[in-house]
Amino acid sequence: MGTWSTLEYIAISTESAASGSDFYLTSVPPSLVEDLPESLRRYIDAPLKVTSDEVTQLPEVHADRVCLLDPQAEKELSPADAKVFDAFVFGGILGDDPPRDRTAELRKYGYQGRQLGKLQMTTDTAVRVTRMVIEEQQPLDKIPYADYPDLKLNKNESTQMPFRYVKGKDGEPYMPEGMLELIKKDADKSFDDFF
Ligand code: SAM
Repeated sequence: MGTWSTLEYIAISTESAASGSDFYLTSVPPSLVEDLPESLRRYIDAPLKVTSDEVTQLPEVHADRVCLLDPQAEKELSPADAKVFDAFVFGGILGDDPPRDRTAELRKYGYQGRQLGKLQMTTDTAVRVTRMVIEEQQPLDKIPYADYPDLKLNKNESTQMPFRYVKGKDGEPYMPEGMLELIKKDADKSFDDFF
């Protein structure tokens, strides 16, 4: 499991625990189920469940109550959907620029789809926004966003992230703990690779 995904899954685990939701990681290769990063392992059982089963094989998940979060869906997610769905499926897919619609792989399950606007979000942002709409009953268009933010890497350089984030109280894009440092480190690496 890559460091980026691990940080996202830690953030989702922390927020799921705080809201009393379960967080399932499904279709995980068996070798990885046995060898999860230590930093993620401490969330196992509450709220994190990790399995190599597909989401359709989970007995507690009823297909007619499942929503696939899909940027290509016709309908937007709305607070009224709290009465329609019990489970929300997200692609454990890293974003790319331009997006390659890899969420398409999940449409085979036939779940009802909802979008969160047309802009690509990181997976933890998509989960956070879904929670704000469903649990906090905030309409999508009332959520404060930071779109394609510029992150300052050092005194002279910045990089633009090709995603929509939720804007925190400090006005900065909300990111998992350690993510900014990882992005800075990766930028240094590619700079070093160049020379
Ligand atoms: N490039 C990937 C694609 O095109 O599918 C983007 C993957 S996104 C980083 C990871 C997951 O977050 C998606 O599979 C989807 O479930 C959810 N997601 C991200 N942005 C979304 C949006 N605007 N509407 C609905 N779901 C979204």
